[in-house]
Amino acid sequence: MPLNAYQTTNHYLERAFELLALPERFRTALITPSREIRVELIIELDDGSLGHYIGYRVQHDDSRGPFKGGLRYHPDVDLDEVRSLASLMTWKTAVVDVPFGGAKGGIQVDPRQLTRRELERLTRRFVEQISPVIGPDTDIPAPDMNTNAQVMGWFFDEYSRRRGFSPAVVTGKPLELHGSLGRDAATGRGCLFAAREVLAAAGKKLEGTSFAIQGFGNVGSWLARLLHERGARVVAVSDLKGGVFKGDGLDVPALFQHARATGSVSEFPGAEALSNQELLKVECDVLVPAALGHVLHEGNAREIRARYVLEAANGPTTAEADQIFSERGIMCIPDIWANAGGVTVSYFEWTQNTQKLKWSEDLVNDSLEKHMVDAHRAIAACMDEYKCSMRTAAFVVGVRRVKEATELRGIG
Ligand code: NAD
Repeated sequence: MPLNAYQTTNHYLERAFELLALPERFRTALITPSREIRVELIIELDDGSLGHYIGYRVQHDDSRGPFKGGLRYHPDVDLDEVRSLASLMTWKTAVVDVPFGGAKGGIQVDPRQLTRRELERLTRRFVEQISPVIGPDTDIPAPDMNTNAQVMGWFFDEYSRRRGFSPAVVTGKPLELHGSLGRDAATGRGCLFAAREVLAAAGKKLEGTSFAIQGFGNVGSWLARLLHERGARVVAVSDLKGGVFKGDGLDVPALFQHARATGSVSEFPGAEALSNQELLKVECDVLVPAALGHVLHEGNAREIRARYVLEAANGPTTAEADQIFSERGIMCIPDIWANAGGVTVSYFEWTQNTQKLKWSEDLVNDSLEKHMVDAHRAIAACMDEYKCSMRTAAFVVGVRRVKEATELRGIG
């Protein structure tokens, strides 16, 4: 039976625990979430009827700093998934060495079924319910799937109405509401740096390297744009409605115009149509899952024809697929480093908010690059030391840092 999302994260963690010969007391302390909250969200819909939704916030670990993690609106959101994503955030913030812990939240809802006003009411109700346990020095949410700068703006406003002006309670806000330059592109840009570093370590360059990207939202679309600017070949992209393929590379700026005009990348003129499943099996150098979790599994891992899997999404590879990839010599560039650009720039946004400063976009991007490159150095050193996969090495780096903080603060 395949492992569920939380079991998968713990499976990777256990490997790091073994390599570090971590005493049992630390294993229990590091694996166990600090707090799990489930809230019932009842709102009035525009037609006067009531909508009833379930929301979660899981705070996994705060030994290195306030809890930090995104907020997802999706019909598949459940406690198991949020627990797993919260734990991943703990290791991610440690890998890129930003002074936060890990958390995640979500509402089980298909936001496409709600109007803008209903979405705003739902967001405000969620803030109302979780406001006692969040705050600029306690727990700081951010965007994730189907949540964006506008949702973060409502979040900031609702919290501030209750507690006074508090821009640092949430990151990924609009620029006009104390957001940071460079935050929108940050996760995609971080993925670009990750790909560049891994290719460089193998004596390769971004120029001419082919990429297939599943998901054309915040992360996937920014990554496609930045790769194209640097001369990489984006051969396939997809979104919820389907995908497109062009072997010698898609014209990404024209694809953006098409997606803006039609609401989807599908049916882009001059490219072949392909399904989301087919996209994963495209022959390319780097496959980038940038949408949902668990899309690479036992059922399709043997058919993947990429040399690298760049995990822009959180948890896109099941433990079974991870094993198959390692047997087949496909290198997974793990989510807890690859997509850490978002939380890194969230840290810069929080820093600007708390210090009442404004950074230039160059300062944001240069600082992001430094965090990503430093993290790669630490991961590569661990791969050498323990002769392990990049994923295990990233977990070792994260676990070591969280364990040190936990030990210094004292467990009980
Ligand atoms: P988004 O909502 O902006 O975009 C999601 C994209 O995935 C859309 O193009 C959507 O059409 C597509 N999609 C949805 N369901 C799909 C399906 N079944 N098959 C194929 N495509 C599908 O979300 P995002 O912020 O870009 O997040 C994408 C992934 O990146 C998530 O796993 C998220 O956890 C992760 N992530 C996001 C950030 C961030 O800063 N936004 C940071 C770290 C990790």
